[in-house]
Amino acid sequence: PGNKKVLNQQLELRRKFISSSLSLSYEEPIYMKQSAFQYMYDQAGNTFLDAYNNIMLVGHCHPKVVKAGQISMAKLNTNTRYLYDELFTYSEQLLSKFPPSLNKVFYVNSGSAASDLALRLAQTHTNKSKVMVMEHGYHGNTRMGINVSHYKYNHKGGPGKKEYVIQTPIPKIFESGHNSEEEASKYFIEKTLSDISLNQNEIGTFIAEPIIGCGGQVPLPKNYLKNIYPAIRKQGGVCISDEVQVGFGRLGDFFWGYEMYGVIPDIVILGKPMGNGHPIGAVITTKEIAQSFENGPEFFSSFGGNPVSCAIGKAVLEVIEEEELSKKAKETGNYLKNQLKELGRRYPEISDVRGEGLFLGVEILDHKKRPDRKKAQYLKNGLRQRHILIGTDGPHDNVLKIKPPLYFNKENSDTLISNLEILLREK
Ligand code: PMP
Repeated sequence: PGNKKVLNQQLELRRKFISSSLSLSYEEPIYMKQSAFQYMYDQAGNTFLDAYNNIMLVGHCHPKVVKAGQISMAKLNTNTRYLYDELFTYSEQLLSKFPPSLNKVFYVNSGSAASDLALRLAQTHTNKSKVMVMEHGYHGNTRMGINVSHYKYNHKGGPGKKEYVIQTPIPKIFESGHNSEEEASKYFIEKTLSDISLNQNEIGTFIAEPIIGCGGQVPLPKNYLKNIYPAIRKQGGVCISDEVQVGFGRLGDFFWGYEMYGVIPDIVILGKPMGNGHPIGAVITTKEIAQSFENGPEFFSSFGGNPVSCAIGKAVLEVIEEEELSKKAKETGNYLKNQLKELGRRYPEISDVRGEGLFLGVEILDHKKRPDRKKAQYLKNGLRQRHILIGTDGPHDNVLKIKPPLYFNKENSDTLISNLEILLREK
């Protein structure tokens, strides 16, 4: 009862100071106090297993990242109008993760600022204003970000689709109604190619996530980008890969999502895990696109690329490498995916398990094969009562999202599966 009182006081303060357009997770929100690696601790001393926060890629409060921030904050904080080592050492390390054609970096402070800048870069370079976006995609909270995010502009009360936006279907193989993956893939490729040809020579930008997060963790068909990228370029456009959710090794074999599909984008958007919770974002692009932008006004971000952010970003890259976190993401991800599929054989409401590494989605359908939002929410809230954090998303909010810190291990997977099973058995 004491805890209930503290929670209610918190909720009251929240309502007093914070707009209700900011949502809270769970029917019973959690008053958090501390976190470490894949665990979070609430005000009452409960331990939660975090299977959801992809920002904390190398683990909540990883000591190496914390220390890098502390040391650099006590030493120097300035901006990119001065020369300092951290900017070069970090940029060199970050760009070494990309193919040689992607060799210029612009630093900002969020994924939204990165996507906004990426769209400006694309528009400046191509001099074409039409943007092709994917249904249920999300790219950021700026006005431009909302305008290219079907997930937001199409929402109740959203601004609607702008004339310059061309919306192509989410290529979701599951539920496409085709007999085979090849057939579904062919259908989606042909549909998008025909959307491109209807707007021939007018599309300056194609923007897509490698696995569509807000759309319900939907990977693209294998050959999709291999067909779409050349068609966009042929009519004078450039291709953006939004790696904010999936980048930095979470996918196991692929450090970046676009690698899954054997393509190289013209512009890449980075954010979330880049600073393991410290607000950094970036746009990576080619020399040619950067040059087009140089003809315009100076680009300046007060905080983008400051030495503290660079030191933190560098520590994140080093931890990924030193602790072989991509390898861990692959091993644990495969193990968890198989376990989820096995659970799906016994509980048919688990209708599809998809994703790569530690970026997984579980589609929940009812016995008539319709999206079952209620069951998905029941599972999410039930797991929360059992001190396990996951999310839900997708147009029907019926997809469980699992994207934990990469410290999440096989034992944690077993805990998640056994608790899911208890909840599935109950209902
Ligand atoms: N792109 C994608 C794919 C995202 O998921 C998000 C955030 N959910 C953003 C961009 C925007 O990032 P931020 O919230 O850091 O502005």
